[in-house]
Amino acid sequence: MLVNSFKRGINLPTRKHATEGKPVEQVPHPQQVVIPINQHFGAPNQSLVTVGEKVVRGHKIADALTPGPMTVPVHASISGTVTKIEPRTQSNNTEGLCVVIEAEGPADREEFFPPLDPFSCTKEDALARIREAGIVGMGGAGFPAHVKLSPPPGKHIDLIIANGAECEPYLTIDEAAMTAKSHLLIQGLAVVMKITGVSRAVIGVEDNKKSLIPLIERELRLEEFAGDISIGLCRTRYPQGGEKMLITALTGREVPSGGLPMDADCIVQNVGTLVAIAEAFYLGKPLIDRDLTVSGGACKTPKNIRAPIGACLKDMPVEFMDIDHARLAKILFGGPMMGTAVASLETPIQKNTSGIILMTREETIAQEEGPCIRCGRCIRNCPCSLSPVIMNNSLDAADLDYAVKAGLLDCIECGSCTYICPARIKLVQRFRVGKQRLRIRQQQSAAATAAVAAAKKS
Ligand code: SF4
Ligand code: SF4
Repeated sequence: MLVNSFKRGINLPTRKHATEGKPVEQVPHPQQVVIPINQHFGAPNQSLVTVGEKVVRGHKIADALTPGPMTVPVHASISGTVTKIEPRTQSNNTEGLCVVIEAEGPADREEFFPPLDPFSCTKEDALARIREAGIVGMGGAGFPAHVKLSPPPGKHIDLIIANGAECEPYLTIDEAAMTAKSHLLIQGLAVVMKITGVSRAVIGVEDNKKSLIPLIERELRLEEFAGDISIGLCRTRYPQGGEKMLITALTGREVPSGGLPMDADCIVQNVGTLVAIAEAFYLGKPLIDRDLTVSGGACKTPKNIRAPIGACLKDMPVEFMDIDHARLAKILFGGPMMGTAVASLETPIQKNTSGIILMTREETIAQEEGPCIRCGRCIRNCPCSLSPVIMNNSLDAADLDYAVKAGLLDCIECGSCTYICPARIKLVQRFRVGKQRLRIRQQQSAAATAAVAAAKKS
């Protein structure tokens, strides 16, 4: 089978051995969950429950006041009583309103939607089911799945890509999903193909997961609807799982600067998202559980787990999750390249938490920054063909406009430049701050324009 790839990028130690090939283990029923009411990219939600109210696993507990396209509801992940609704620190380190539920009654009490046949319902009903089930992209920023499946009229899409590349070190949860739930993955792909009217799909995997191929091929033969679904093998190279990189590797197409996958005629969905879509139709199940990898040198029991959304590592029994607190130096939500460091084991698991990495000091060793030696390595390895050194110099000189000209907004924050830089310059961290400054400047300029317009009216 041909092995495809994209240009540039880096080779990383994969560090997946601790959980590779391990099945997904169900977390013991937690006594409490802390569920952030906003876990998606889009308009904010409001709580639909009050303190003291009884909820059942599967009940909707938050939604937008006016449910619009960029909104996604949130559901109770355990049955019990709402004991608090208050701001808590979330996995992106911001404070956000959370619903705290204390468990009560039998652990298996749940109320889901009735199953829905995606092949006989209308497209509108199918998209509404995906929204109502609270499904967001499970590999990234929590973009609403139903929005991705509704490209603007006139937009040509000819390929659905299932993203199973999982290029971040340590993480093995997509591999576990493709192993144990390949039938649901294919059913989810078939649903997406039906909704979008696209007749071809590719499951993209890196060539360090070749063992999955016979398994997926067998499932494709078994499924009644297999359509034109194939497997695309990609070279194990970081960041192969980036949407733009995967599209280039599998099709040879380039997503234009500032563009989206649909500008290359593709829709990309993470394999976990496709499994969640299949479950929403065939089981009527909303997105209330999250499969994730827990690993790292300070984790004595590295494993792939299934946890109710809102569960915290701190509450898991030691015989299930044994943490070496003496050696724990850093807690990462997500992988070590693109994940976020959090302060506490009380941080709740969210819809987009693909892994929690418990790192020791040796794994996180931070070296002092030195001066740039103009080696050009960051430019040669950037998968988006940007000039990180120039972007960094522009930001140092407070010249945001020049940083944008050099590609700041096209940066996918993969961290390859930081990893490869011999001077240990924290390039990607600066780009994140630069983008934040740009957002603040845009908000200030919009507010100033609105104030001038208001003054003219009065
Ligand atoms: S973080 Fe941005 S600039 Fe650095 S390599 Fe990745 S895409 Fe390029
Ligand atoms: S890799 Fe580091 S040292 Fe080399 S040019 Fe880029 S910023 Fe400078």
